[in-house]
Amino acid sequence: MRRLALLSTLACFLVGTLSLGAVCLRVKSRIVPSFAGVKTDSIRGAFHVHSKTSHDSKLSIDQIAIAARQADIDFVILTDHNVSPAPPVIQRGVLFLKFTEWSTAFGHVIQLAGSPLAKADKNSLEVLNTIHNNNGLAIIAHPFDMKRPWVGPWEGLVGLEIANSASALRQLLRDNLFRIVPMLAGFFIHQDLTWGQLYAPNTRALKRWQSEAQSLPIGMCGVDLHGWIETKKNLNLWNLILPGPLPEQIDDQAKYVLEKITHGSFYCSSAQNNQPIQMRTEIIDAQGQPLLYNSTTLPESPQALNIYLQNKNAETLRIVLYRNGQRLMTQPGPTLSYQRPGPGIYRVEIETDYPKLLEGHYRATLAYSNLLKIASPPKTNNQDPTE
Ligand SMILES: [Zn+2]
Ligand SMILES: [Zn+2]
Repeated sequence: MRRLALLSTLACFLVGTLSLGAVCLRVKSRIVPSFAGVKTDSIRGAFHVHSKTSHDSKLSIDQIAIAARQADIDFVILTDHNVSPAPPVIQRGVLFLKFTEWSTAFGHVIQLAGSPLAKADKNSLEVLNTIHNNNGLAIIAHPFDMKRPWVGPWEGLVGLEIANSASALRQLLRDNLFRIVPMLAGFFIHQDLTWGQLYAPNTRALKRWQSEAQSLPIGMCGVDLHGWIETKKNLNLWNLILPGPLPEQIDDQAKYVLEKITHGSFYCSSAQNNQPIQMRTEIIDAQGQPLLYNSTTLPESPQALNIYLQNKNAETLRIVLYRNGQRLMTQPGPTLSYQRPGPGIYRVEIETDYPKLLEGHYRATLAYSNLLKIASPPKTNNQDPTE
């Protein structure tokens, strides 16, 4: 009897080891897509990074700077928990902007620039307006996170995280518990594939973004870095891509980055293996001139809206144009040209079929443009005033 029990235990152990081995081999053999780029003068930054100034991160600014250099990142937006913002610093050639992620009674809000919140302000329904009145920019962090969703008012926000890596990981594991074994295997033997599972779009955050679209809030993508996984890979999960180059002086650099962000003159892109999606958005105005979009000057009656992908293998990517929240047009890279776009709020997503851990693919969004508003033409009054 005892022998039988021992044999069955051994058999279980053997089957378990063999299955785990099979899972590991399978995960290891999966090939992640690569998007070789071309040289551009754009600059790249990581948003939502915690240093050891936060209670839940042990990373020094120097450790983050070393990883940022390896990740080809030009600037890092630190958002340590509940600390006052501090002047920018340059460490190992990387620009660090030091801002804050506040824990409020309604969830987490990131404040860029401005003066710090008083304690009582964090529990007030007016918290976003207070940040605005303090000359700060309020960005809702991980608004639909399982642990800490935003449950407060939305009035007064300047932007929201449409993507957040930590939130995406929690969601992925909750939606499919069986994925934990291949995820764990992948964590040790194929990190790129594992972190590549985090690009399923957050439909609730995107919907909310659209419902706030009239005020053109900025769509941010946060790496929510705490030093739990390899810092370089974490930094490259999402990058903000701004037109470059950066000015020379540190204060001008900080001003430049903030100004581009405030105006939505950037896009979000994955940058796995230092390979961001290289996207250029162009509006051809009524006179046939190409315009660089800036949310403070809204083009009227443009002739065309053009999207160009500059990555060498752009044909494996799909350019998806949205208008007022609806999918309008899908086109494989490298170019999408939409003629005579009428008034509305447009945005672009760059999709690909990304390999899942064991088999098949899923629809991954690797880049998000900001909201782009095409204004209605001015009303002409054809009525005879004497009528
Ligand atoms: Zn948070
Ligand atoms: Zn955070």
